[in-house]
Amino acid sequence: MEVEDLLTNLSKSVVLTMRQIPQLSLLPVTELENIPLGRLRRDATRLHAVCRYRKGVRKAEISGPSDVRCVDVHPAALNDDWQRYAAFLLYHEYLHALGFAGHDKTFRSLEALWPDEVARNMGQAFGKHLRKRTAKWLWKCPQCSKEYPRSRRGMGRYRCRECQVTLIDVRAEASGPNA
Ligand SMILES: [Zn+2]
Ligand SMILES: [Zn+2]
Repeated sequence: MEVEDLLTNLSKSVVLTMRQIPQLSLLPVTELENIPLGRLRRDATRLHAVCRYRKGVRKAEISGPSDVRCVDVHPAALNDDWQRYAAFLLYHEYLHALGFAGHDKTFRSLEALWPDEVARNMGQAFGKHLRKRTAKWLWKCPQCSKEYPRSRRGMGRYRCRECQVTLIDVRAEASGPNA
């Protein structure tokens, strides 16, 4: 399936789920489908998705989906393994698009209404997955073999969280096109 179709289908299913959340029933949820969807750069590591507002619109002034220029999702989240997380990412950005600009208490309570609890908690694992893709070095524990993917060498300055043994530097495998 083309990535664009994939994003459109994902958006439709997220909006459908949102229409069944009573706490959102007074908000213009169906308008969310009009927001153009895009992808972040493949090598982005810190950002998983983003809601970009129209030029000149300040965060505090967001009134709804018409103030949003686009929502971008990390391409790695569109992989089969992470699609549940991608749906949750869209939900998160759509809440921003509905006018909840910051990550305050109200935002977090609405975010927690997403019915897929596993997906709500996949952020850390996805972050780790991204770091691993871009890692040039693995700091490896010679005792328990646990690997810590990093962009730089550890130079013997770090210890294993489990064993407290000094980690050694191992060159990471070159990542292939589908890594
Ligand atoms: Zn956010
Ligand atoms: Zn260890």
